[in-house]
This record gives sequence, C-alpha cells and structure tokens, in this order.
Amino acid sequence: MQPISVTLSTQLKEKPQDESKLGFGRIFTDHMFIMDYEAGKGWFDPRIVPYQNFSMDPASVVLHYGQAIFEGTKCYRRQDGGLQLFRPAANMARMSRSAERMGMPALDEELALEGLKELVKVEQDWVPHQDGTSLYIRPTMISSDVQLGVHASKTYRFFIICSPVGSYYKNGLQPVSIYVEDKYVRAVRGGTGFTKCAGNYAASILAGEIAEKKGYSQVLWLDGVEQKYVEEVGSMNMMFAYGDKIVTPALNGSILPGITRDSILTLARQLGYETEEKRIAIRDVFDDGKAGTLTEAFGTGTAAVISPVGELLMDEERLILQDGKIGPVAQKLYDTLTGIQYGRLPDENGWIVKIS
Ligand SMILES: *Cc1c(COP(=O)(O)O)cnc(C)c1O
Repeated sequence: MQPISVTLSTQLKEKPQDESKLGFGRIFTDHMFIMDYEAGKGWFDPRIVPYQNFSMDPASVVLHYGQAIFEGTKCYRRQDGGLQLFRPAANMARMSRSAERMGMPALDEELALEGLKELVKVEQDWVPHQDGTSLYIRPTMISSDVQLGVHASKTYRFFIICSPVGSYYKNGLQPVSIYVEDKYVRAVRGGTGFTKCAGNYAASILAGEIAEKKGYSQVLWLDGVEQKYVEEVGSMNMMFAYGDKIVTPALNGSILPGITRDSILTLARQLGYETEEKRIAIRDVFDDGKAGTLTEAFGTGTAAVISPVGELLMDEERLILQDGKIGPVAQKLYDTLTGIQYGRLPDENGWIVKIS
C-alpha cells in the first residue's frame, strides 16, 4: 500500500469545552485526509494535512453537474478510553458502489480505510467522552476536471473530514414526528436512490423545509412511481414492528442500503425477533397502526442510530404510535446496537475495528 504522508498543523484549534452543546456537524477537527485520482494513474498522493479550504476553478465539473458522493461513519470512545470504529469497510464498499453509478472511479477501499484510521489516530483527542457522543467521519469524493462539457471527469479528489458530534438524544430516546411527502419524490428505480450522492439530498431539501414549517422534523418518502409504498426517511431507513415481528422496505434500487439497517436486521434476528423485507403500502401502515397490530415505527441511520416515530401525518390524517413515546422493540435494538458500538456489549459479528 502507498505510504500516507502526515503534515501536522502548527496551530491547533481549541476543543469544545461543553460536550452537551456539540450538536451535529458544526465543528471540524485540525486535520483532513486527501488523495487524488487521475485516469491511467489511479489514486495517488494519500496525505493527512491541516484542515483547510480547497481552491477550485469555477468551471470544476462538481460545481455544475454534481458528481459528488459521500459517506458517514463514526468513531466511538469506550469506557476504558479506547477508540473504535463500526463497520468502516462497509462504508468504503458502499462508496465504490455509489461511484460506479455516478461514473466515478472505484475507491481504493484499502487505502481509504487506512487513511481514515490514520486520521482518527491523529485526531484522537477530538473524540468526545460523554455517553452518546462520537466523532462523525465524512468521506467524500468529487470530480475535479475543469470543463463544461458533460463527460465523466478524468480527475477526482477523495477527502475525509471529522466532526465531534453530540448525543442525538438529551433525555433518552425522543420520538420524532414525520411528514409523509405525497407530492415530491426522492428517487426512482434506475436512478440514484441507492447511492449516497449529493444530488439526492439537493432534491430533498425543499420537502424538508415544508415539513419543518408544518412542525414535522423529518420527511417520509414514498415510491417515485405510484407514491403508495414506503421508501425511507431523510437519512434513515424505516422499520415497523408488529409485536415481535419487524418489517422494512426491501432494497429495490431506490432506497439507500443503510449499514445501520443491515446491522439492526442482523441483531433483531439474533435477539429472536422475526424480520421481513418487503414492499410496504403507506395505507397499510396507517390502517394497521389504527387497528393496533402495528405497534412501533422507527428510523435507522448512523447519525441517530434509532429514531422512534411518535407521529405520522399524511394529508390531514394523523397516526400516533406508542402514545408518542418510545416502544420496547426500538429501545431494545437501540440499547443493543449502541452497547456494541461503545464497547459495553460483546461484538459477536466482527463489526468493531479497534483504533486504540
Ligand atoms: C446514509 C443514509 C441512510 C442511513 O445509512 P447508514 O449506513 O445506516 O448510516 C439512509 N438513507 C439515506 C438516504 C442515507 O443517505
């Protein structure tokens, strides 16, 4: 593997004092990892350098045609002070799949993972200590050719930045209210829904604003053709509990294959829950919720881990679940997965990568 050069910053930033006020993605650490790509040459010059601005030509392809993909993973601090990552290779593999769909080069996954680990080691003092906090890690790939013709670039940049983030939940798991979007769609089959590309998010921001104005914190997307079937929520996959049975939309090409989704399905089966991946009609969710057979709904994603849904709004129709409180299935799965991530529970699936 190519050696990764390290240039340390001579002017370290002040670290945040109050870990209860970290929020999400507002503070960035002292260093970043960068490597570049050229067709015919491959990925080269892997390096850790002081966190800094990029200088870009205004005609850079990424600024016009949005060839940009990203990932999100976290470094957790155990009670003994040591650090660990959760399934980081799965993020790199997913980035290569995103890259392929976007006409971008496959990542050198091994080198990218090594860069990630080395960067976390350099930034180890930035990993917060309080329960529920972590260092959020954002790998990103952009095209860097300077041209206005619509062609795949010959040059790309991959970089990783890190941000200490707070606990998503200050007073235990707080259920969210979700707005079912029935006008706009996020993705269609054959499109880019299964990739973590910037454009998917650009297309979702308006609906998010509308939902927020109505007092809802997240948008639930329906399928792009009939607008009848549940896809996912903002940056989370959706799961529904019918007592001890958990159902989730099947991966159909327009849904992001979440690593948390996959982990929760695996843990659920190990804990004795039945699981099923299938097409789920939103009408059935409302009917089953009102009949009481559907007992819980929750989202899964790296940022919040599990986000219980207390309320769904579709048109003028409202569904309240678990009296707006967290249910037992969501709580059990949250405790189990975060237990593994923070090293309180044994990792029987080989998911943890220890840094120290
Ligand atoms: C990142 C993301 C998720 C969650 O994926 P994880 O790997 O579990 O973090 C779900 N949906 C979308 C649209 C996403 O971008």
